Amino acid sequence: PILPNIEVVTRKNVCTHCSVGCTVIAEVQNGVWVGQEPGWESPINQGTHCAKGASVRELTKGTRRVKYPLKLVDGAWQRISWDQAIEEIGNQLLEIRQASGPDAVFWLGSAKFSNEGAYLYRKLAAFWGTNNVDHQARICHSTTVAGVANTWGYGAMTNSYNDIQNSKALLIVGGNPAEAHPVSMQHMLRGKEHNRAPFIVIDPRFTRTAAHATDYVRIRPGTDIPIAWGLLWHIFENGWEDKEYIRQRVYGMDEIRAEVKKWTPEEVERVTGVPGSQLRRVAEVLAKNKPSTVIWCMGVTQHTVGTANVRALSILQLALGNIGVAGGGANIYRGHCNVQGATDFGLDVSTLPAYYGLAEGAWKHFARVWDVGYDDLRGRFGSKDLMEAKGIPTTRWFDAVLAKPGDIDQPSPLRAMMCFGHGGNTVTRMPEMVKGLEKLSLLVVADPHPTTFAAIKERRNGTYILPACTQFETDGSRTCSNRSMQWGEKVVEPIFESKDDYTIMYLLARKLGFADEMFKHITVENTRPVPEDILREMNRGCLSIGATGQSPERLKMHMKHQADFDKITMRASSGPCAGDYYGLPWPSWGHPEIRHPGSAVLYDTSKHVMDGGGVFRARFGVERNGVSLLADGSYSKGSEIEDGYPEFTMAVLRKLGWDKDLTPEEMRVIQAIGGGEGSAEIDNVSWQTDLSMGIIRVALKHGCVPHGNAKARAVAWNLPDPVPIHREPIYSPRPELVKAYPAIEDRRDFR
Ligand code: SF4
Repeated sequence: PILPNIEVVTRKNVCTHCSVGCTVIAEVQNGVWVGQEPGWESPINQGTHCAKGASVRELTKGTRRVKYPLKLVDGAWQRISWDQAIEEIGNQLLEIRQASGPDAVFWLGSAKFSNEGAYLYRKLAAFWGTNNVDHQARICHSTTVAGVANTWGYGAMTNSYNDIQNSKALLIVGGNPAEAHPVSMQHMLRGKEHNRAPFIVIDPRFTRTAAHATDYVRIRPGTDIPIAWGLLWHIFENGWEDKEYIRQRVYGMDEIRAEVKKWTPEEVERVTGVPGSQLRRVAEVLAKNKPSTVIWCMGVTQHTVGTANVRALSILQLALGNIGVAGGGANIYRGHCNVQGATDFGLDVSTLPAYYGLAEGAWKHFARVWDVGYDDLRGRFGSKDLMEAKGIPTTRWFDAVLAKPGDIDQPSPLRAMMCFGHGGNTVTRMPEMVKGLEKLSLLVVADPHPTTFAAIKERRNGTYILPACTQFETDGSRTCSNRSMQWGEKVVEPIFESKDDYTIMYLLARKLGFADEMFKHITVENTRPVPEDILREMNRGCLSIGATGQSPERLKMHMKHQADFDKITMRASSGPCAGDYYGLPWPSWGHPEIRHPGSAVLYDTSKHVMDGGGVFRARFGVERNGVSLLADGSYSKGSEIEDGYPEFTMAVLRKLGWDKDLTPEEMRVIQAIGGGEGSAEIDNVSWQTDLSMGIIRVALKHGCVPHGNAKARAVAWNLPDPVPIHREPIYSPRPELVKAYPAIEDRRDFR
């Protein structure tokens, strides 16, 4: 201790610099953060931090913090008080609302929010009356959510970082964990050393992770799908697939098999540059060393066909029978510390918290949870149509600033941007947005640090920076990539004049006139909403992902007494045991009598499907004349596939003339959730990531045949039982891309 006579208090929080979720033990003396240890008993970081994690203490210090509210006046920053800032920002927002409606404001959140912050921000946008609320997952892993949710059910990593030690073979695609997620690398290397697990890396670049590979596969950028199909070609050709698993649990694999047949080793080599002999070796290793896991990161997701890339790898794991087993699954590495939680709790233009979608049933559900009238909520949007229409995503908001009325699918161009949550430094990652920022009449940035966002030199007025706390100056939970919610304790008091996100949102809601309704069941202590109460409300409302058992009391208990719980409840018992957790991984069901320990592995393949065991779809969708409507709202024609959302689904339905056969309710569901992404409440039943019933019904009426899970749903809804038939292949790269690949002879120096 620096001061020998003063007690050192330890507080636990979570590292904020990546999604591994390493525990930080902060040592505080006399209110000052004097020392830091990694979480020794955490089964995830096991007493280690990487250099990034070792530096988190600096976030609460330093001269770079925003110290007090600032306002830009004629190009110069002026110090102002919190009262003045909230008053002026609130007045300008109200003026904009009066002149242009609530959709003229974009609420950009962040994956650096706590779960409670993300949920509250979504709720704030709802009370303001817009679905223009999003965060950076839009440009990183939203394709993962769509791809895996439509294959397996939930849009999340299936296993856990430390479960990788149970793998008998590792396949890493489009990721460099040795540098981006360093602590997770120890679990991989343990798997490699203890299990002698082959360590295969597929990447166009030779990275530090690739340096550890037992087999490094260098591919041409953008050829992820042919590589997956090439692996499956060898697997099917040699009979290495898990036939019993497929027979019991997987819809649509025959169609994949037919598609894969075309991807001969010669064709795959021509397209990807990978020799057939190497691909055969990798396929054999994965098939004969089971369970094998696939790990991917943004090298897979950040493509125009990102969802299809994700689907291809997901289908590979289904063919090998690796989903729903310890040591198998898909370990999908997110970026920021709370990308999973921010997505789970509603920072998305097309969903309410817990992927409830925007259909009437979903709004009614949250109106009940929030204890407000559904009509009251609807009135805030102006109309039912606006309430159920998807907002403008992060990738398009600046178009909406520059648009004229009528150019875009919302009533007016954007006029204001609210940027909260430490990390919405969107200018750095999307420089083209500057043009939009220049035109906004109001820009508000709430952040611990002055970001490039607020420093647009072309703006001379109408910009405010509010000093927000870091996560170490407040408390709340976060969900790391492995779905585990961990409670982070406040380490030090907010420094300078900073306030936490909860307080800033409360002050703003109070100025905007809806704080009483919005915080009806959340205790507010001296303008600070209590985060435990926010989480309790989330527990009540977020049924669809099983976030009901992660009460603040349980999360705190787990963080405090990890060592005791290790042998008892921390070893998650739903499904096969796959490593220990810090916190509680969802689904974790809550009930006074049930203390669900969380789900270490998503999907249980130890049970028969009739008893709740996992059942998956290699493919599902409906099609006619070669046009496929896929579960994620994509459509394909021939070998072409478009990633898409509700607008694609609607466009294809119109093209086929099927939209006329939809009931208004079905139309609303499709407009809200597309072909199947997200959730909807139909007849008081919440359907998550199901192909919408309307599409199945009209498809059957028009003589088409639903595939995969659509078939199961058709049966469940008492629609005529469809019969699977062979269809046009899907999930091939676009023909123009294939043509664009140079022939193998032309790029001998590629490797
Ligand atoms: Fe932090 Fe990630 Fe490093 Fe762990 S691996 S210490 S969570 S940056």
